Amino acid sequence: LSLPIHDAVLGGAAAYGDAPALIDGAGDLTLSYAQVDAFHRRVAAGLAEAGVRKGDVLALHSPNTVLFPVAFYAATRAGAAVTTVHPLATPEEFAKQLRDSAARWIVTVSPLLPAARAAAELAGGVEEILVCDAAADGARSLQEFLGSTAPEPEIAIDPAEDVAALPYSSGTTGVPKGVMLTHASIATNLAQLDPFIPMGPGDRILAVLPFFHIYGLTALMNAPLRKGATVVVLPRFDLDTFLGAVQKHRINGLYVAPPIVLALAKHPAVADYDLSSLEYLVSAAAPLDAALAEACSRRLGLPPVRQAYGMTELSPGTHVTPLSEADPPPGTVGRLLPSTELRVLDLDDPAKDAAPGAEGEIAIRGPQVMKGYLGRPDATAAMIDADGWVHTGDVGRVDADGWLYVVDRVKELIKYKGFQVAPAELEALLLTHEGVADAAVIGVTDAEGAEIPKAFVVRQPAAAGLTAEEVMAHVAARVAPYKKVRAVEFVDAVPRAASGKILRRELRERA
Ligand code: ATP
Ligand code: MG
Repeated sequence: LSLPIHDAVLGGAAAYGDAPALIDGAGDLTLSYAQVDAFHRRVAAGLAEAGVRKGDVLALHSPNTVLFPVAFYAATRAGAAVTTVHPLATPEEFAKQLRDSAARWIVTVSPLLPAARAAAELAGGVEEILVCDAAADGARSLQEFLGSTAPEPEIAIDPAEDVAALPYSSGTTGVPKGVMLTHASIATNLAQLDPFIPMGPGDRILAVLPFFHIYGLTALMNAPLRKGATVVVLPRFDLDTFLGAVQKHRINGLYVAPPIVLALAKHPAVADYDLSSLEYLVSAAAPLDAALAEACSRRLGLPPVRQAYGMTELSPGTHVTPLSEADPPPGTVGRLLPSTELRVLDLDDPAKDAAPGAEGEIAIRGPQVMKGYLGRPDATAAMIDADGWVHTGDVGRVDADGWLYVVDRVKELIKYKGFQVAPAELEALLLTHEGVADAAVIGVTDAEGAEIPKAFVVRQPAAAGLTAEEVMAHVAARVAPYKKVRAVEFVDAVPRAASGKILRRELRERA
């Protein structure tokens, strides 16, 4: 915990030696632990020689590849803080992040070089753009650094103070904010996860969620590499490639977001693959309905789907359902991690705790709390109170056995005639209709000025005739009257962030 993140993760790499650390799921390239260890040290030397200094911000702009972790740990070893960038960000979005984070270096992949150059041009202040793969169009490749004879940089890192990663929050509720995570907060969170999700050599994890998001960075990169597991890397989600990779690489552990659970539960293609190597499935990042989780685990013949809960600002984990728990209660996101404290605050008076077992805003305190938002003291103060509690903005409740249930975000709750309606609950119900492929719910203002729940529904291909009345009746038969869906619009797709979250603000703009 008192180690820099590259040492905390790769400290055991020498011992794992020739064991496969990373496998390119789309090709044949495999990196052993010894290679990841040696490569990231050489690249760190090359970066230092190129001019990277302690405290510099390096933007890592890449889909998942086997070289992503090499670039990441090389950068932190050279003393940089890594800000991870969505590979599909537009040059304008990318430039915003470069400016906001004052990034001086970009590491990208050659197909994305034009976008990175356009962003750097817009933002200014970037010293050099490097690529991970083969040198392209005048940009130097990190692979050239493998031959570097420069000495390994000896950077004094203070794990408790120095920022290792600067991921941006998903921007689900507003503008994405740069989250300063120290070496210690990330490493501590990995240690906190250990007793809940034991991993080790022989485990084969499929990394399809993006490494650039804190969930992928933790669950698919840092945690398995720290434990000698093998990570099979896919650059993007496509159901057939994903299922084919599970079959081919005999994947035993899956870390996914609810849209993938939905696909696994409902899509016919799932039956075409041998998924018998799977032992467990973890879902996080967005609300997952208990019935959907059950349908998924039953279909795959797996133990109950495990959930985890967290946020970028919490490095990111606070709750996980332990793999060892044979029969966790349906719908729970898990138990509190060690050395973490939780309060459930009264929704009307946040100075008070909610009654035991009642719903309220989740507040968290622990060593995994971020250092703050970069350059946003006001936003930081609004998030972390004077006593160190992070006000998550999420509504939840804890049962008598200590299991947490997340209801929805405080800000997403729809107030229908004074009653609170959680969109996540209605979305889950909509998905139980066989004609519904996907759904999202927001509050809209009706003709009388009242807030009502409106559903955006994607029909299953075989249910082209599904009507708004049928959809509304399906929900009405299953909820208290105040929770009824009162408007329906059919759409081709539900807008989602890369982490799988529904972008309700996009729907709001459309409505
Ligand atoms: P922004 O803060 O920029 O609006 P964001 O909150 O979506 O974006 P993240 O840090 O990626 O950014 O996501 C954290 C949020 O994800 C949590 O606050 C919570 O709302 C949601 N979340 C995470 N895990 C779960 C889960 N298991 N169940 C329900 N919601 C979850
Ligand atoms: Mg957030």
